[in-house]
Amino acid sequence: MAEGLELQASAGGLRVAIVGAGVVGLSSALAIVEHYGGSPLGPTITVFAEKFSPHTTGDYVAGLWQPYPHGPVPPAETKWNWETFQYLLQFLKRADVPEMGLFVQSGYNLFKHRVPDPPWCDIVLGFRHLTQDELSLFPGWSYGWFNTTLMLECKNYLPWLMKKLTNYGIKFMKKKVTNFMELSPSYDVIINCTGVEAAHLVPDKEVQPGRGQLTKVYAPWLKHFYSTHDEQKGLYNAPYILPGSTGVVALGGILQLGNWNEEVNDEDRKYIWEGCCKLVPSLRNARVVDEWAGLRPCRSSIRLERETLGSGFSKVELIHNYGHGGYGVTIHWGCAQAVAALFVEICDEKKRAVPSHL
Ligand SMILES: Cc1cc2nc3c(=O)[nH]c(=O)nc-3n(C[C@H](O)[C@H](O)[C@H](O)COP(=O)(O)OP(=O)(O)OC[C@H]3O[C@@H](n4cnc5c(N)ncnc54)[C@H](O)[C@@H]3O)c2cc1C
Repeated sequence: MAEGLELQASAGGLRVAIVGAGVVGLSSALAIVEHYGGSPLGPTITVFAEKFSPHTTGDYVAGLWQPYPHGPVPPAETKWNWETFQYLLQFLKRADVPEMGLFVQSGYNLFKHRVPDPPWCDIVLGFRHLTQDELSLFPGWSYGWFNTTLMLECKNYLPWLMKKLTNYGIKFMKKKVTNFMELSPSYDVIINCTGVEAAHLVPDKEVQPGRGQLTKVYAPWLKHFYSTHDEQKGLYNAPYILPGSTGVVALGGILQLGNWNEEVNDEDRKYIWEGCCKLVPSLRNARVVDEWAGLRPCRSSIRLERETLGSGFSKVELIHNYGHGGYGVTIHWGCAQAVAALFVEICDEKKRAVPSHL
């Protein structure tokens, strides 16, 4: 049997439950189904979620492809970031790319002091340091980078993924899962893509909310992104301005670890507004069109690994894929590929466990 067919046969009949329909859950589903070429000999997949698009975290965010600008990055995450960027780049050659929510954008990262180049400087396009003339546009910021990257708007990308998955025969169920074992009699493999809610489903003290708040304005004259970094205020607690595809620009600059509050508040609104208008004064004339507060699933590193739950007939294989912090859109496809590889590993083990005379 050819290797591909053997793989297909080994997943036949396996029932997979993916819990979570954000960018991480849907891409994990697609990576698995595409690994088996959409073949009916592949696994049967159901996606369970409490919230679907347009109500997941990714639906509200701008979707800038940019990992954290500093701090140690596990080597696996650098690889997954790279894989995601390369995967997305190839879609730019297609005429239907706007449907997917993908476009190219260039912009500035600004700092108070000189900093080392980020590990992703060779992944993005045309990375370079700012000149003094460019820096003079941004009083108070003395060092910076310019590069071209991608924006992936999940309000388009998630429906695009769901359409593809529906065409592959994948089913979607609206349901809050309170314990993974409740799925165990009916599913052989469960994939945990529950974002920050994983904190309530698995004993993992490391995952915590990184609350953010956004003000969305209509400012079609802005054509670049601006992301500032102030070491004294900590990661993401400095203004950022991310133009979308339709003239709506996301203004942010808040990361509050441990804060579960999803309500917009005045104090943060003011902080974001003043910070962004100081950076780009023309924003003062922009009309506010929306506001939102949401939770980044923060963790020191993404949890992407296997675990076996239960025993005997109730034994079920679990693959965790959560904790993508403020870079879930940036890294999602590389993680989805890693999930598919773990899934194939489970299929191979199950196949070996069946006596050869059966
Ligand atoms: C303000 C802000 C700005 C951001 N900007 C960017 C950016 O520009 N670029 C970038 O790359 N990233 C950005 N991020 C981060 C990115 O949005 C997240 O990393 C990403 O959306 C996480 O995706 P997810 O699928 O893991 O989680 P979610 O989108 O939160 O999805 C979780 C899914 O699991 C389901 N679920 C959870 N618990 C249960 C349960 N018990 N039962 C059933 N279903 C359940 C939910 O209903 C949902 O479907 C930003 C985040 C914030 C808050």
